[in-house]
Amino acid sequence: MPRCQKDQTDGTGYFLTAPNILRKVIDHTLQIGRTAARLHLSLNPVTLAFGDVMRTKSIIPMLAGPHFDHIVQRSIQLRHRLHQCPELGYHEKQTSALIAGELRRLKIPVTTGLAGGTGLTGLITGSGRRCVALRGEMDALPVQEQTGKAWASRRPGVMHACGHDGHTSMVLGAAAWLSRHRSLLPGQVKLLFQPAEEGLNGALRMCESGALDRPNVAAVFGLHGWPPMNIGHVATRSGVFLAAVDTFEIQIRGRGTHAAYPHKGINPIACGAAIVEALAADVSREIDPSNTLVLTIATFNAGTAPNIIPDLSTITGTLRTLTPATRRSAKASMARICKSIGVAHRCQVQCRFTSGTPATVNSAAGADLFERTAGQILGKKNVSILDKPFLWSEDFAYYLQRCDGCFFALGVKPPAIKEYPMLHNPRYDFPDTAMATGIRMLIALAVGYLAGDTIGINCNPPDPVDSNLPLHVPPQRRT
Ligand SMILES: [Zn+2]
Repeated sequence: MPRCQKDQTDGTGYFLTAPNILRKVIDHTLQIGRTAARLHLSLNPVTLAFGDVMRTKSIIPMLAGPHFDHIVQRSIQLRHRLHQCPELGYHEKQTSALIAGELRRLKIPVTTGLAGGTGLTGLITGSGRRCVALRGEMDALPVQEQTGKAWASRRPGVMHACGHDGHTSMVLGAAAWLSRHRSLLPGQVKLLFQPAEEGLNGALRMCESGALDRPNVAAVFGLHGWPPMNIGHVATRSGVFLAAVDTFEIQIRGRGTHAAYPHKGINPIACGAAIVEALAADVSREIDPSNTLVLTIATFNAGTAPNIIPDLSTITGTLRTLTPATRRSAKASMARICKSIGVAHRCQVQCRFTSGTPATVNSAAGADLFERTAGQILGKKNVSILDKPFLWSEDFAYYLQRCDGCFFALGVKPPAIKEYPMLHNPRYDFPDTAMATGIRMLIALAVGYLAGDTIGINCNPPDPVDSNLPLHVPPQRRT
């Protein structure tokens, strides 16, 4: 039975029930808002109006033109400023203050003092509850710069040799664009500026500081410059994208003596040499060959003079693995091999691991969104979906252990150059010409995720007259 008769409508198809009168009031209010917003936005270089749903496709024209170019130029200036004053992990005071100042200039609320003091977040609030995060890392490396650039480091022995100045500036560029268009944003964007990515797990401390809470982050996106790949190109993969890394130190204690009387002592160098050889040969033999493992011995130190057999030798290195099971069994093999060879050589051997970052694992939905977004923004030929992971590592892994998302590689090699300096090289400088691509991708991923574009997530606000509708449905892959 109908709820009311035809003559009870107002002539526009609405029945005059109480909820529908409310709907009309809301519609009229939205219409006034749309008209005002169109009037305002006609002065600005955008193509959407208040009330329209922001989607990846609809924002593509907005990621070019004078306004976008201005944002890129501002990001380049900020990068040069950051590059001049690099700071090591957990000491990023000046960097953190500069970022906070820029966020406040953009009228973005800031939370400071996270992750040991220098970490901070900003929050751009749109019209929905769903929250997506973009990550920038702030720390530099203990490297003496050799780029010869006008904006080279002013701090002897410290430089942005991993390009974190560029990554942070691109997140600030995305923040400038997103905050400018916040009235069209179908959700919230949290900006994560973390300290100490370089081996000190700043991302973990950000998580422990509650950086992903209030509002809860549903997905996180981040990038890293990748020198072997051309500018304008991006790459990632679903599942494991980057390896887990652990560092180890092996201490071998023998008994020092005169080099002419080796039988009066116990030689820790001979024992160490046997350990180096055995680790290289035997650990990989105990792991399924289809599971990648890289065991690198990087230092072997012992002795003080050519005629002294020392008391002690020390070996250090890194272990890189792609699965928790391989990581566990490789560590167990190493400990057993070290102990057994120590017994054979009458040395006391201790093998200590410092747990590094876990593997960086992209969610299927995050990688799917990345692939579709990058295809739309950059063209499919500029998007690589890798068939196997990279073996470097990133503490972005900790964010992806807690929420959906995707980490990806951004090409930084100018196409005309055969080889660009590698990360951590004293001649590596994040190229300004790669900034626009990175900013576009960060904006589009945030908007795409919030709009539920491309991966079938319905993030549109529910019908205002039906409060029983769920605000969001779980992520699903489109078929
Ligand atoms: Zn890095």
